[in-house]
Amino acid sequence: MLLTITSTHSPANELGYLLHKHTDRFQSFELSFGKAHVYYPEVGADRCSACLLLDVDAVGMVRGKNPDQNFLLAQYVNDRPYVASSFLSVAIAQVFGSALQGRCKDRPELASTPIPLTANLDVLSVRGGERVLRAMFEPLGYDVEVVRYPLDERYPDWGDSPYFSVTVRKTTTLSDLLTHLYVLVPVFDARKHYYVGEQEIQNLLRKGEGWLAKHPEKDEIVRRYLRFQQSLYRSAIYQLLRDDAEGMKDEGEGMKEEAGEVKDEGNATPRLNDQRLMAVFEAIKSSGAMRVLDLGCGEGKLLRRLMKEKQFTEIVGLDVSVRCLEIASARLKLEQLSDIQASRIKLLHGSLMYRDKRLEGYDAASVVEVIEHLDPPRLKAFERVLFEFAKPRTIVLTTPNAEYNAVWETLPAGEFRHADHRFEWTRNEFQTWAVTIATRFGYTVTFQGIGPEHADYGTPTQMAVFQKS
Ligand code: SAH
Repeated sequence: MLLTITSTHSPANELGYLLHKHTDRFQSFELSFGKAHVYYPEVGADRCSACLLLDVDAVGMVRGKNPDQNFLLAQYVNDRPYVASSFLSVAIAQVFGSALQGRCKDRPELASTPIPLTANLDVLSVRGGERVLRAMFEPLGYDVEVVRYPLDERYPDWGDSPYFSVTVRKTTTLSDLLTHLYVLVPVFDARKHYYVGEQEIQNLLRKGEGWLAKHPEKDEIVRRYLRFQQSLYRSAIYQLLRDDAEGMKDEGEGMKEEAGEVKDEGNATPRLNDQRLMAVFEAIKSSGAMRVLDLGCGEGKLLRRLMKEKQFTEIVGLDVSVRCLEIASARLKLEQLSDIQASRIKLLHGSLMYRDKRLEGYDAASVVEVIEHLDPPRLKAFERVLFEFAKPRTIVLTTPNAEYNAVWETLPAGEFRHADHRFEWTRNEFQTWAVTIATRFGYTVTFQGIGPEHADYGTPTQMAVFQKS
């Protein structure tokens, strides 16, 4: 997939400052799904174009050193959690992050000035065709040009393919253009998003601030962005309508709300959250680990605690949600750290569904309140990724104890603590799973409860500590 952005604002080569990418360099970036390349096919004072080319490594995503072909391939072919269109959004956020946020050290005034811009997308798969393309871009003031490709040029009778090249033009800020592309590109493709959960709503709302609530197709955009998941859709539309009625939210307020403390899942007191982090922190620390991973690190609460402990010389957080990583990065104030501190910590975007070489060779890993977010059939992939390939010496893993839900009166029987939970296990279910995994991959395992203990139902959180035997 190729995104070409062209500026004709003189001097046009200042596009390099806006994108934070040198105009005379070809630069490549490793992303979790492959590579992104940035280069400028045209650099002049009147016209300057930058290309963002994605090189999605579909094979690399599933190929291990010792691959179980059937399992890995089925995982990929039948149920891949990634599609090209969301790759482009991920790449925009990662490679053009500052430009997306409208930040530009060298030319701050240029970043907030509307300039004549053109974006060209090759190739998009569009459900609903040209009508949908126009309905999404035109109300935002874009001039839209569309080329549709036939299914096979040699057989015109076969009709059109769902593939399009699209050009949009507008005098706008680069940040607005990138934001519109970030939200709309995944909307055209009807296939599964790389990850859709509560967090995606917040992401959509933040990126949609100031324009989405007024867009005549907002229903369709939200429905498609959230991949037709009814409950998420309702919740997002509700918030959008409310924001629209109240007018633009105070920027500071919105940020605080988002970057602020996340409510603990379900009805636990905030202290449960702290108790959980403390218990995990202690387990990791007492293992003697120096190089540690926090898998599914979310917004980085545990990372922050780990950073304060000198024993840890290398700390890596991984999450599938780019939005979470952005918040984690802000919370940890990564951009303000001294070089020494900065060299201790790294945030990675990736999925625990795929073997990832970047996770190999660490002393310990924590996986806090993550497994219950994975679809049960995918748990098998996760087990191998962590216990067979990454295989840190110590693994500290927590998950809710479903039995304890009975203690919370306001949680209706049979409901999970969080809308995105795919399962919640009893103590027996969790321990059976953990012992099976430990035996299979050569670990020993011990268990510990976290939070107040109920005589019949145990503690709200359960923790397993695995040690490589
Ligand atoms: N560990 C954090 C966050 C728990 S919420 C804490 O205790 O606060 C679960 C997290 O798992 C979310 O941030 C979600 O984005 C992440 N997650 C869900 N599926 C994932 C996957 N396949 N790979 C990596 N992270 C995933």
